[in-house]
This record gives sequence, C-alpha cells and structure tokens, in this order.
Amino acid sequence: MTHVNEPVEPDGKTLNFIEEIIENDLKSGKYTSILTRFPPEPNGYLHIGHAKAICLNFGLALKYGGETNLRFDDTNPVKEDTEYVDSIKEDIQWLGFQWTNEFYASDYFEQLYAWGIDLIKKGLAYVDDQTQEEIRLNRGTITGTGKNSPYRERTVEENLDLFTRMRAGEFKDGEKVLRAKIDMAHPNMMMRDPIMYRILHAHHHRTGDNWCIYPMYDYAHGESDSIENITHSICTLEFDIHRPLYDWFIEKLEIFPSRQYEFARLNLTYTVMSKRKLLELVKNKYVNGWDDPRMPTIVALRRRGYTPEAVRMFAERIGVARRPNVIELSFLENCVREDLNKRANRRMAVLNPLKVVITNYPEGQVDEMEAVNNPEDVNAGTRKLAFGRELYIEQDDFMESPPKKYFRLAPGQEVRLKYAYIIKCEEVIKDENGNIIELYCTYDPNTRSGSGSTKQVKGTIHWTSVQHAVKADVRLYDRLFTAKYMDDLPEGKDYRDYLNPDSLKEVKAYIEPALKDTQAFENVQFERLGYFVLDKDSTSDNMVFNRTVTLKDSWAKVAGK
Ligand code: ATP
Ligand code: MG
Repeated sequence: MTHVNEPVEPDGKTLNFIEEIIENDLKSGKYTSILTRFPPEPNGYLHIGHAKAICLNFGLALKYGGETNLRFDDTNPVKEDTEYVDSIKEDIQWLGFQWTNEFYASDYFEQLYAWGIDLIKKGLAYVDDQTQEEIRLNRGTITGTGKNSPYRERTVEENLDLFTRMRAGEFKDGEKVLRAKIDMAHPNMMMRDPIMYRILHAHHHRTGDNWCIYPMYDYAHGESDSIENITHSICTLEFDIHRPLYDWFIEKLEIFPSRQYEFARLNLTYTVMSKRKLLELVKNKYVNGWDDPRMPTIVALRRRGYTPEAVRMFAERIGVARRPNVIELSFLENCVREDLNKRANRRMAVLNPLKVVITNYPEGQVDEMEAVNNPEDVNAGTRKLAFGRELYIEQDDFMESPPKKYFRLAPGQEVRLKYAYIIKCEEVIKDENGNIIELYCTYDPNTRSGSGSTKQVKGTIHWTSVQHAVKADVRLYDRLFTAKYMDDLPEGKDYRDYLNPDSLKEVKAYIEPALKDTQAFENVQFERLGYFVLDKDSTSDNMVFNRTVTLKDSWAKVAGK
C-alpha cells in the first residue's frame, strides 16, 4: 500500500458512493429517513481515523435529515474500560457532533442470547466441544475445504441443554462454543460455521458478573444494528468478507434488514494508528500519555492546537474511497494552517533570543506601537506593543557574514522591526569565547510604521521588548516517526525503529505581554514562526505553548519539493 492518493477537493456536486446509495434508497421509498451509527470499542482513545468515520456517519445523517446512534461495541470484557467510554463521548462532541441515542451492545446480551436459542431451535446453531486449536485446524484453508465438527449433528434438545448450561457457568473458559451451522466447505472462510459465543469468566465493565458467555463481533454487530433499525451500517473495508455473515444472521432471524457498506480506512504517512501500537507507545513511555501532542489521537490533536473545524475540513476533503490509500500528513497540516490563518490572533514571540540595544534610543523611554491582531479578520482589531531601548530578536535573524541575498540583520545592514522602526546593526558584542552576546544598533526615528515613511528595506523581522517580555516554555513538536509508510516497513524492522529523536524540542521563549491573557486551547500565531496553543501544563507563573504547525511545510523543503 505504498500508493499515495492526492485527495481531490470535492466540488460539492459529485456524490460519493455511499451518498449515491442513500439517495437511491430515499428516492425508491425503501427508507423515508436514514439512521447511521458510530460503533467504537471502548478499548482505547479515538484517533484521526475514527474522526473520519465519525464525520462520515454523522455527516451523512446531517446531510439527509437522519440520525446517528453512538453504540459502544463492548462485547469483549477483557480490554474495555469506562475511562475510554468517557473519552470517546468527549471526543465526538468536541468534533461537533451529537448522537441521538447512546447504546451499548451489552444492553442487547439478553436479546442476543434469545436469538441464539432461536437459531438452535431452527437447527442453525450447535454447541461444539472442540478445542480452539481443533476448530482452527478443521476450518481448512482458502484452497481446501474444512472438516465438519464431530459435534455438528447434536440434536436441538442437546444443544439447548448445553447452551443453557454454558450460560449458567457450568463450563470452564474454552470448553465449549456456540457455532452457526452454515457450511464447512463455503468458499468464504467466514461462513465456515463461525463462532457465535465463547465462554469467558470475566468481569464486564457494565454487566458485571452477570454473564460468562460473550457474543463474538460478527454475531453481535449486525444484530445490534438491526435492533436499532440502522439503515446504513458503514464500516471499514476489512469487513467486506464479513458481509455475507452479517446478512445471513439477519435473514435467518428474520429481523430488520440493516445493510453494511464498506469504505477504505484512513492511513496517514509518518503515522501509526493501530490501537495496539498506540497503547504500547503510551505504556512504554515513548510519548507522555494518550494526549501527548505527537499522538494521532483526537485528545492529542486538540492539545496540539487542532480545531474541530480543521479536522472536519480534512475528513471532508479526503473524501470516501473504496480502495485502500495513504494520505499525506502534510495534507492534514495544511487544513489546520488554513483554518488557523483565519482565526488565530498574531503575536510576537522570540524563541532563540539575541539581545539588541538601540544605542540612539533614549534610556528609560517606552513607546507604544500599534499592532494588527489578524490581517485576515478585520474584526480582530489592534493592540499596543511596548517598544524600548533593549529588544530580543531571533538568533536566526542575524548573520555576521551573510550570503548575498540575506535580507535580515547583518553588520552595517538594515532591517525593519515589524510595527516599529528600521534599525541598522553598528557593532557585534562578543564574550571572551567569541560568542555573540548582543548587538548594538541604531534606529531611524523617521521610519516608524504607519507614519508614512517612504524608506524601504527588504527584510522585516519580529521582536519583543526586554523590559516587557514574558518568559514562557515553548514545545516544538514534529512528526513522531521518520518513515513515510509506517504500515510497510522493511523486513525485521518495526515502528520503534523509526521514532523521530527530534519530535519534541523545548525552548525558553520571550513572548509579548498580550499573550498573558491567552485562554486554554486558544490558538495564536507567533509571527513568522507558526501556530501555537496554550498547553494545560501552564501555571499562573509559567505559560507553556505547544507548536501546532509551522507556517510553511518545512518538510517539503527537506524533500526538495
Ligand atoms: P480495533 O479493532 O483494533 O479495536 P478499530 O480501529 O477497528 O480498532 P473500533 O473502535 O472498532 O476500532 O472502530 C470504531 C469505528 O471506527 C469502526 O466503524 C471502524 O471501522 C472505524 N475506524 C477505525 N479506524 C479507522 C480508520 N483508520 N479510518 C476510518 N475508520 C476507522
Ligand atoms: Mg474494531
């Protein structure tokens, strides 16, 4: 799967294949309204791939005036937890969606059990005593048929008795299973007498110790859809081979005919999305928790400074495909840039400070400069920026022996300080080891921004006032992995071999005082540097900012694009 699809921005007129199906179903009168569902397993935090499924399911319902249920697919008691249930609900709401009903597959355990009995009575299910290993071996291969279980011809009475006793707890884990009686020679392996129930003496986060038999995904999922009258059950591509089984149960039980449709799951370059790997990253402390801003989880994206609008824009633009593909991470980053460009206030922050003394500026004098909050938003207004004799600029904005087209500060060279004056570097001050410690500059009082001065220079740089700046921690995040196709690594390598050692750098920055009023999750642009957001680790005397994304795609340059 090394092919990267360049997403095409939809023109709003063409329908994706699921929309086409829905429109046909509504036109033909098959349904008068649609009902979709989002069915997470509460065994981890949601990630950007789930966000796509959420936007799709809720988006379709919104578009066609239907509704969406949230259903926790909690049929596997061992890995599930209420912590995950809460985070999943929060994430969906943060994305901007509200479900009609909150359901749990475990609410249907009694009904599912009753249907198990029905299938036994119809001669369509039986209790099997084979071991897990025997069942696996006797299932056969794709090219060869399977072998009937020696227990396949048990009578209905015997099956009813054994299944009842399975539920009553008379047997140990793995001693028996309930299987659907379909066809051990079926070309689709999923149809070779699939397991419906297994014995698991495990505590369930909702049903407690009421049950010691639990339904398998394939038995529970379609039946849960049907109980809720879900019209369009949308899932990812790997479930297409499960569809015949999904239909088989519904047909044999003669229940509401929900239909399953599959779309390609989202894969992103430089990203792993398997819950198992994400859990390992957290447990082995490669990252600092599920909401570490380098994670692809929704909690992490939020902490990183992503907005729901940006995530929804991304989901919309990548569209819905039927073939597997990998989307460029930079495409997601472009969505958040585009969104924040419109909404984030501009602020001054210096991350790698170099002190500048303006020798002809009167000592003790403070001037107030008028600065525009957001040139993309006329309603964002302006603010005052204090200007004084001593300033910080970025180390990168000065070069002692610059190349020809360097238009920033250099000995004898002039540059504009944004919203202030043109300054000229007169003298470079070094310590005894030859390190540059400060610059002596002069300013031209006739060049104040907004004063109508006609003097032009090619470079403009940002700055903060030494006397007024506030010290803050800034966390510079970058992609967590260095390999582009994390699902397609060379033999013998795994994702841990590709952790980016530079995925987090922390610096002390000098930021303008207006940033003291930044609210939790407020997005700001540090001029010329990128978009940042206030982190939850901030305290009343130490602010912490996370870099959401740089202003331009810095990796595009590295790749020579
Ligand atoms: P696992 O099966 O390992 O628990 P999962 O990713 O399938 O992980 P679920 O909680 O079962 O997790 O997923 C809930 C819904 O989200 C499912 O309908 C699933 O198809 C969808 N989904 C999961 N991952 C992606 C993805 N990468 N892209 C699009 N949809 C996804
Ligand atoms: Mg799943």
